[in-house]
Amino acid sequence: MIHLRTPSEMDKVAQGGAIIAGLIEALPERVRPGVSTAELDAFCEEFIVAHDGATPAFKGLYGFPGAVCISVNEEVVHGIPAAKRILVEGDIVSVDVGVRIDGWASDSAWTFPVGRASEGASALLNVTERALEAAVEAAVPGNHVGDIGAAVIQTVEGTQYGIIRELVGHGIGREVHEEPQVPNVGRPGHGPLLREGMILAIEPMLSAGSPEIRTLRDGWTVVTADRSLSAHFEHTVGITADGPRILTRAEASLNAAPDTVDAA
Ligand code: MG
Ligand code: MG
Repeated sequence: MIHLRTPSEMDKVAQGGAIIAGLIEALPERVRPGVSTAELDAFCEEFIVAHDGATPAFKGLYGFPGAVCISVNEEVVHGIPAAKRILVEGDIVSVDVGVRIDGWASDSAWTFPVGRASEGASALLNVTERALEAAVEAAVPGNHVGDIGAAVIQTVEGTQYGIIRELVGHGIGREVHEEPQVPNVGRPGHGPLLREGMILAIEPMLSAGSPEIRTLRDGWTVVTADRSLSAHFEHTVGITADGPRILTRAEASLNAAPDTVDAA
């Protein structure tokens, strides 16, 4: 079933969302050549648990071993942080973060360049971020889930990029993954009606080449079939009468700014 949440329940989701936003703001200076994805994972976990009652929502979810998912280059999602995975100049790194606090979950992802990105990689990041913005704008009462995917299609049209269709966004609230599914392709006016109170994780994933994907033998890491670069941007968004409320932004929380971990 699709849950409808009250504004104060959305505030709860926004509380975790603000922690994720703070983390994503802190990451660019740590996503550097020579850093391992395990080190980034440790930083993310420390940052999250430094906030009273907050835990990394993905740790142990379906058995996932990391605190966050870190996916490099052709890895689309669900990359497992590893000490031997050292970032190098020109990589792109998607960090997908879930936070659980007071029994509520929030979910957001961002793709960062390591050092100076190639022109091709920068363009892919830019278009994927714009696809997220357009998709979020479509998340208003009276629209349908299909309008969200249609907005992604419209943004990507005219580029050579592929939209990863086999992975989808989702409802979120008490659980990380709730109904409905939120595909990144869709037809306007199709799919479940968007109603005030719904909370959706909207998360376009694009590839520089083929949109086909494979799962590696580790059982987690999803890569593009042709090993082309992939980018992923995600926000948790509340559907409100006043328009989309991005719950994974620093200003999403009505509470005081959260404490931060010492920059170590
Ligand atoms: Mg996510
Ligand atoms: Mg998600």
